[in-house]
Amino acid sequence: MGWWDDICDRCGRCCFERDVDDDGDVIIDYAAPCEFLDVETRLCTVYDHRFDACERCGRVTLWTALVDPRLPEGCAYARRLRPWHREQPLDDAPDES
Ligand code: SF4
Ligand code: SF4
Repeated sequence: MGWWDDICDRCGRCCFERDVDDDGDVIIDYAAPCEFLDVETRLCTVYDHRFDACERCGRVTLWTALVDPRLPEGCAYARRLRPWHREQPLDDAPDES
């Protein structure tokens, strides 16, 4: 863990199936979590070897943080590096309580 990984606030948004609609908005399918996601805590159950365990799991790089159209707008990297998205609501995730 370093300063880059520490930017992640463990919201888990990137651990669900996602698509990009015609307007370029990221649509998150909260009914389709990654098999390794604990949906209660939103934490990865295989974090230390997630890239080996999960084919679709990818590290957020500076490049993806800046331009990946599939990065959820509420993602902490998007909020940090895409200031034009900072006004987007961050409460799009379903209430887990
Ligand atoms: S393996 Fe990757 S996509 Fe799956 S829960 Fe862990 S961090 Fe999320
Ligand atoms: S969407 Fe961004 S902040 Fe949330 S868990 Fe994924 S990388 Fe971390």
